[in-house]
Amino acid sequence: MEIKKVVIIGSGTMGSGIAAQLCNAGVPVTLLDLTNEISKKARERIYTSRPPLLIDKSKINNINVGNIDENFDVVRDADWVVEAVVERIDIKHNIYEKIFKSRKKNAIVSSNTSSIPIKVLSEKLNDEEKKDFCITHFFNPVRYMGLLEIVKNENNDLNKINSLKKFCEVELGKGAIICNDTPGFLGNRIGVYAMQVAMTEAFKMKLSIEEADAVFGRPMGIPKTGVFGLYDLIGIDLMADVLKSFIKELSDKDEFQIVAKEIPLVKKLIETGYTGRKGKGGFYRVNKSGNQKILEAINLENGEYSAIKKIDLGIETVDISNLINRKDKFGEYAWIVISKIIKYASSLVPGITDKFNDIDEAMRLGFNWAMGPFEMLKSIGVKNFFERVYNFENNKFLENLSKTKDENFYGERQLYTDIQTLGKVRPSAIKLDKNNSAETHRFKDFNIVEFTTKACALDYDSMNALKNATDKPLIVINESMQFSAGVNLSYTMNFADKGDFKSIEKFIKYFQDTCKTLKYSKYPVVSAPSGLTLGGGFEVLVQSNFVASHTNLVIGLVETIVGLVPAGGGCKEMLWRWSQTEEAKSDPDYAPLKVFDIIGYAKTATSPIEAEPLKYLRTEDRKIMNRNSLFEEAKKLIDQNADFVPPEECKFKLSGKSLKDKMIKILEKLYDEKVILEHGIHVGTELANVLSGGDTTIEKVLSEDDLYKLELDSFMRLIETKKTQERIKYTLLTGKPLVN
Ligand code: NAD
Repeated sequence: MEIKKVVIIGSGTMGSGIAAQLCNAGVPVTLLDLTNEISKKARERIYTSRPPLLIDKSKINNINVGNIDENFDVVRDADWVVEAVVERIDIKHNIYEKIFKSRKKNAIVSSNTSSIPIKVLSEKLNDEEKKDFCITHFFNPVRYMGLLEIVKNENNDLNKINSLKKFCEVELGKGAIICNDTPGFLGNRIGVYAMQVAMTEAFKMKLSIEEADAVFGRPMGIPKTGVFGLYDLIGIDLMADVLKSFIKELSDKDEFQIVAKEIPLVKKLIETGYTGRKGKGGFYRVNKSGNQKILEAINLENGEYSAIKKIDLGIETVDISNLINRKDKFGEYAWIVISKIIKYASSLVPGITDKFNDIDEAMRLGFNWAMGPFEMLKSIGVKNFFERVYNFENNKFLENLSKTKDENFYGERQLYTDIQTLGKVRPSAIKLDKNNSAETHRFKDFNIVEFTTKACALDYDSMNALKNATDKPLIVINESMQFSAGVNLSYTMNFADKGDFKSIEKFIKYFQDTCKTLKYSKYPVVSAPSGLTLGGGFEVLVQSNFVASHTNLVIGLVETIVGLVPAGGGCKEMLWRWSQTEEAKSDPDYAPLKVFDIIGYAKTATSPIEAEPLKYLRTEDRKIMNRNSLFEEAKKLIDQNADFVPPEECKFKLSGKSLKDKMIKILEKLYDEKVILEHGIHVGTELANVLSGGDTTIEKVLSEDDLYKLELDSFMRLIETKKTQERIKYTLLTGKPLVN
């Protein structure tokens, strides 16, 4: 079965998200809604969405729009029809009747429902129709969430389901997991339960919402929005509807019922319009007084808001064992929440799936958890877990495990896919090294380095891991949300605060050395990025020999935003790439001026398609829809380059002062137009100094080391200024650039 044309009915949040992802895969798609206006608006939303749903905006015309009365004929040509209308069974039934009357013979029809059982959805279909009908449950936002749950019915043509799964995996880049027809399937059943446990226990233990979010967040391998932040993000009213549906669908005895009970404070928040970020605020709110914005948190006991208090647990990486063994309220809360999640998830096996492993993968893909409940159990240790847990009658999984006490109960990961993923390979690889910032494995005859810090920020330990791993071909890859957000700036600021600039210089030099080692290593180095690949993260990538990139990435040199210039070879490599163009052959200033523009404005690309024209990526760099395939692709690059020879050193012809003057003129014009301020001129002048080759009046041929030196000198001059330090501190604190 080939899928060449798709029709989606319902152009709301999900319909438009699915349409955009099909467009990303180069598949023509038509969005139908009640009126043309609604579906046209949907297409506009797709075009302007932030973060962008499209990897290449110029392909928007691959999405056609229409209405279900006049344009329903398009269904006749579709190989797959997706229903994504409102969650109302009467409306869905009517639509299926219409679709099955018009569809092409054998075309697949699926629903994106999040809560209606397939039994109910398909109750009016005949056996022949049921053969081709299933649920394809995508997560929002479709481009960025890896999970797709596929629910079959008993009449399905299994070959067809498998080829749909393959299509969604390869073309749409999804982790497609087949699951049973049970309420909330895998992801939402466990994910929403986990949120409810985290919330109700926070109330019971009288924790503040900041405290709860600090625990039910990064230390547990859960995104930093935590539970209350996530509630605000999803919408407190929407969560109430989701809970109502679970209460209705699940048996009275289901543990979910206990944590799904209505909480008076939540009810009050909804009634008063505090529905979360889309409303007046929620558990958190921004209080604007004058031109000041204060982020406030609600007190769970009296419902009053006050300025948020930052909670520092002193835990930088995911560490479940340490967390639950803390002798304080945070440790106690963590244990109660984690043990309840493990108990609940395991009690549902084999009801919701006979592969417990799939539950973990659903939590990784659908909720961005770093590990699922069973991996948490593994990391706590079976013996340790059973020493502490009680009350697990009628839980066959735990009863069995309590008898076998098998610490190796887990087995292989990612059973839902045939792809040779990093997650599957890691357990069979030899662990060579682990430090505070990276892990190194040897697999077959090459090394794998994974960064493990927050946002995979780079420090001495990450750099050492890279350097030491170049004794074999090397793949730099990881499973966390970001490839690397850059060099660890809070580390450098600790030195700046003490006035110890020598140590900063040493650190940056070490980074340059590391990048040089990567570029000129005897063996090929492959970077396989997904997510943020910024600043120093980009410099690692650009000085790797090969790249296999996920289509979801944000890439660029953003140093000027914090008042710095790239100093790990970023300026140098961008200069080199642009100097290889046709235009640069006839104009020696073409490349430096281009790079001046790109780095000066801290331009970023949100996909490999956008990255290529900026030369952040090259045409030959591989672009891959499914993140799971990054490892296989990187491995292929190593296999295909068995006769690898390191690149030759680059030489740069730069015109010096005359070019620098041109750049300064540009800065002065921007200053006059109030696009940049005084400090912008300062930063821009340093960048000009690097890219022009300095103040020399004769055209000079510079080596890579000369360029590294210029980068370092400019970086050092800038980091010593109060303005730059202020910018870095602001960005570290807020995650945003300082605009002044
Ligand atoms: P939505 O309200 O954003 O969009 C629904 C769209 O359906 C609207 O544009 C509406 O005009 C259209 N519609 C209503 N009746 C129609 C009809 N008879 N014919 C054609 N179009 C019609 O809803 P959504 O959030 O996109 O949800 C769609 C489906 O996906 C639901 O089944 C929902 O449960 C499910 N879902 C939602 C999410 C989510 O996060 N929003 C996630 C997973 C699944």
